[in-house]
Amino acid sequence: MTDSTTPAPERTLVLVKPDGVRRGLSGEILRRIEAKGYTLTAVELKNATPEVLAAHYAEHEGKPFYAPLVEFMLSGPVLAVVAEGQGVIAGFRSLAGATDPTAALPGTIRGDLGRDWGLKVQQNLVHGSDSVESAEREIGLWFPAL
Ligand code: UDP
Repeated sequence: MTDSTTPAPERTLVLVKPDGVRRGLSGEILRRIEAKGYTLTAVELKNATPEVLAAHYAEHEGKPFYAPLVEFMLSGPVLAVVAEGQGVIAGFRSLAGATDPTAALPGTIRGDLGRDWGLKVQQNLVHGSDSVESAEREIGLWFPAL
């Protein structure tokens, strides 16, 4: 039960990208989020659309990796997840590790499970929102009912 004195719980949008789903790593990634103590409040396998991706990655439009990134994100289903808990936005980004899976530290999702596949795009298994504003915007894109 929430009322005007109870702050809304922090939430973040996590995507297990098509490489993670294809490699059968969805369960392992969800396990790590739950083991950290966050709560999964929505989990749904979805096919991304060009419209959702254009909005989701609007800040990257025009960069050299943008078109291959969108193509990669359309290459198979993604697992869209809303995770909740105090500090979950920064906490999940710590769990995910650095963008480049070669540089990501062991102990992180990208460091333990990812590598350089010699492709045009960093296939780095997961996305996590980077601020409260991004999280609310991205949750609205992937889960319009939430
Ligand atoms: N990306 C890429 N090449 C780059 C930078 C980013 O392929 O040089 C891809 C990568 O999949 C990354 C996504 O674009 O996860 C979004 O980039 P961002 O800098 O927001 O990284 P993130 O927040 O996902 O770590």
